[in-house]
Amino acid sequence: MLSLDDSIRHIPGVGNVTAERLQRLGLAKVADLLNHFPTRYEDFSKLLPIAELRVGEQVTVRGTIQLVSSRRARHRRLTITEALVSDGTGTVKAVWFNQPYLSKSLSAGNTVLLAGKLTSSSYGLQLEHPTWEPESKSGLHTGRLVPQYRLTANLTQHQLRALVARALPCAHAITDWLPAEVLSETKIMPLVEAITTLHFPSSLTQLRAARQRVTFNELYLMHLAAKLARRALGQSPAPAIPFALQTKGFVAKLPWQLTRDQKVAAWQIIQDLGRTQPMFRLLQGDVGSGKTVVAGIAALNASAAGFQTALLAPTEILAHQHFTTLTKFFANGKTRLALLTRGHHELTTASRATAAALRHKISQGAVDIVVGTHTLLQSSVTWQRLGLVVIDEQHRFGVEQRQMLTNGAGGTTPHLLSLSATPIPRSLALTLFGDLDLSILASLPVGRQPITTTIVAPDDRNHVYNLIRIEIAQGNRAFIICPLIDEGDAGDVQAVTTERERLAKEIFTDIPVGLLHGKMSSRDKVKAMNDFKQGATPILVSTSVVEVGVDVPEATVMAIENAERFGLAQLHQLRGRVGRSHRPSTCFLMLDDIKTQAQPRLQAFTRYNSGFALAEYDLKTRGPGDLLGQAQSGFLKLRFAELADAKLLELVRRSVQNTLAHDPELTQAPALRAKVNELSIHPE
Ligand code: ADP
Ligand code: MG
Repeated sequence: MLSLDDSIRHIPGVGNVTAERLQRLGLAKVADLLNHFPTRYEDFSKLLPIAELRVGEQVTVRGTIQLVSSRRARHRRLTITEALVSDGTGTVKAVWFNQPYLSKSLSAGNTVLLAGKLTSSSYGLQLEHPTWEPESKSGLHTGRLVPQYRLTANLTQHQLRALVARALPCAHAITDWLPAEVLSETKIMPLVEAITTLHFPSSLTQLRAARQRVTFNELYLMHLAAKLARRALGQSPAPAIPFALQTKGFVAKLPWQLTRDQKVAAWQIIQDLGRTQPMFRLLQGDVGSGKTVVAGIAALNASAAGFQTALLAPTEILAHQHFTTLTKFFANGKTRLALLTRGHHELTTASRATAAALRHKISQGAVDIVVGTHTLLQSSVTWQRLGLVVIDEQHRFGVEQRQMLTNGAGGTTPHLLSLSATPIPRSLALTLFGDLDLSILASLPVGRQPITTTIVAPDDRNHVYNLIRIEIAQGNRAFIICPLIDEGDAGDVQAVTTERERLAKEIFTDIPVGLLHGKMSSRDKVKAMNDFKQGATPILVSTSVVEVGVDVPEATVMAIENAERFGLAQLHQLRGRVGRSHRPSTCFLMLDDIKTQAQPRLQAFTRYNSGFALAEYDLKTRGPGDLLGQAQSGFLKLRFAELADAKLLELVRRSVQNTLAHDPELTQAPALRAKVNELSIHPE
């Protein structure tokens, strides 16, 4: 008997080679395979006599093979296998390419089921590359809602589907960790049934119910974990940080006026800081809305009152940028800043320090604001009077941050401010983050010009290059983003390096072209960013590492190669790197194949400038109603929760409330407790 904890090698039909391929998908155990849910389904449930079929439909055909042939096409490498299948009412031709072994398994006289999209050719009805199975074993690949999985090279849908079917009986051993009273009150589908249904749904209604269960899971666990964390944090008070007049002086001296939203947010934060109850606030604002300065005001206020601030950035480039920005902001004051990342430790931009010396200063209270990456979360960093923790791009960090939150001055809990550009509706934010307080920057600073977004056909690249030339002559900067390569990091590096060479040698012979990718040392990355910012290399060819947060107000062109490969959320983040000043900016979506121009997704992207509008579009097009397909391009890195509707959110919140009311320490629900702990250990 197979069991959940068994290696996938125990599944009949999995040898070393297949096991290795499954490993590449992160599938090591039988349980992993069961949790590898389909990303979409093909609806092949329509099984009709051939005479009643219509061209263009997704269909399943049952018939007897009349004839099988296999031949080499004129192009040397192509083998074509054809089968004629009849059911008494008509005949369909099935065609496969490069599957010569098929002619061995298909033989004339056998009855088979074939599923695919019906087309017409000069020879009559045709199914191209249908999935098929013998009638005697039917029920998995045809004649139903057929699951489609995420694959790696050399694995086929057919194969993975068959393996899942073999592993599926083990699902019965999965414990449903949802407390029994929640199950009975919500009438939500039991876990085992949901997992079985997700793989092999018997109907759309069943599939909908199963989807609802896994969405519920995701939300329920996150909401519960957030509530528990917040309760734990609330057990020790926060230091009350009084409003400092310096803060006002700082705002008055800024080169621009704060927007109304920035003022409101800053004021809400300052009021929170004054309380002994720890602040737990999310500052949400679209790319370029000016969240950094609001965080800066909070940090300045803390330091004026004698408290330290930790500012966490998701990447090294961003940590450097924030450090430089804040150093400029506070150039004439008494605020002492430091930068602590794996590669760099600085006290000010002028003086380097060893990491140990810097940590010593932090522990002595000799620095006020420390900007850093994950490094700041290490236990070797101790604080003298930590009063405020700011986390930029909240969604990139997991729950690790909580460790640090117990690290406040004299056993207190520091105040927490998260910054996020992720456009999620208020009700979803509250559910995911556990009833935090929200401040929203709804408008951009005055004087911003809308970004013009244009789709560029493969032959029109020169147009883009000419515009870049003109922009650079005017003192502006341009990003060129290289395509994502399937082969992973190494392939990306190769591609971006080659592209930079090509652009420097063939196109922009008179303009210095910089290079940026994730595999460069942090020192080189920072240098590349600085050279770009200062204008030494006014063109930067980069992978999507510049995606988050990078702020170069002089940048006015964002050219994205193979734009069709990026999700909407990523495109929006990339586009957000331009249009950050009064200068008009352009975003080019450069396509490999002009046919993708018709892609409604890209068209929509050219129409909407705001992240909220895009997220709404994204939700609507993939929305809760879209059961058959589900791209993972979403704005949050969640598997299902993004698609939740208001009713489900309400159900989740009520259920969590019930659970905590009945069993505040989860003592009666050990399986649930384990699940929540798992969530806190493995962020994201
Ligand atoms: P994000 O919200 O994406 O993090 P930033 O904080 O990086 O945005 O700000 C984007 C740019 O806008 C920065 O160059 C910043 O100096 C500028 N900025 C911020 N607030 C204002 C304002 N009120 N008026 C004009 N420019 C502003
Ligand atoms: Mg930012």
